[in-house]
Amino acid sequence: MSITREGKLCSFCGNRGGPGTDLALLGGLGAQICQVCVDDFHEILHDEDLQIASRATVPWETMSDAEVLATLPMILSSAEQNAAFAQEWVHLLRARGVSWAQIGRALGVTRQAAWARFAKKSGDVSATA
Ligand SMILES: [Zn+2]
Repeated sequence: MSITREGKLCSFCGNRGGPGTDLALLGGLGAQICQVCVDDFHEILHDEDLQIASRATVPWETMSDAEVLATLPMILSSAEQNAAFAQEWVHLLRARGVSWAQIGRALGVTRQAAWARFAKKSGDVSATA
């Protein structure tokens, strides 16, 4: 299994992008951002008036209940995408021979807790080493 941006969604607008689409994605730590959002944020960051306006309010304060409800599934999809990314990284570490004890230490949990959280989903249930 390789880690890819294929089929991923922008963590900011919820649009799907990546390889095979017209929407380029960049990302890190599980979050992805599309070119449209990069351009929008770039404009805000380089325009003092837009920065002041963006700091004055947060989008959800002016959203209707219907808009908040419509956004909720996208928030969950983004959270699930991030959880899947963490799973992919654990799989990568295991493929490199990193032990469950090392993974647990990195996460601040026991080896057993790391194994219980990630092993079943990755199919790596054979060993707790
Ligand atoms: Zn976007």
